[in-house]
Amino acid sequence: MNSKNEDCIFCNIVRKEIPAREVLRDEHVVAFHDLNPQAPTHVLVVPNLHAQNLSEFIAKASAAMKARLFAAAAEVGKRFERERKGFRVVINEGADGGQTVGHLHLHVLAGRHMQWPPG
Ligand code: 5GP
Ligand code: ZN
Repeated sequence: MNSKNEDCIFCNIVRKEIPAREVLRDEHVVAFHDLNPQAPTHVLVVPNLHAQNLSEFIAKASAAMKARLFAAAAEVGKRFERERKGFRVVINEGADGGQTVGHLHLHVLAGRHMQWPPG
């Protein structure tokens, strides 16, 4: 698996070189609680493959990994939602998208009512 970006914080979490509060791990993805949660539950789901953003991930990941990433986000959302009240999945890309960590991650937010539009 091409996840050997030494300087990438999420690659380090995938390799267990830095700790995270994991909620799910398999051959394609790792999910863990965000350090700075924006909701009662705020989990990040990342592919084990290093991809800078969604666009790069779509270009280089296998079909199986692409499918698993979205399935895992749904699993996490269903696990942490309040009584079938739902959850939000967010992907930020680039400076205008508000991305701060250069390894694709899906934010899964649950446990409160979400506002729309986002800021
Ligand atoms: P972005 O702004 O790129 O969409 O989201 C990056 C997210 O990663 C932020 O919500 C931030 O709190 C989270 N984050 C940054 N560094 C770490 C870390 O070392 N561990 C964990 N668990 N979350 C992190
Ligand atoms: Zn990475």
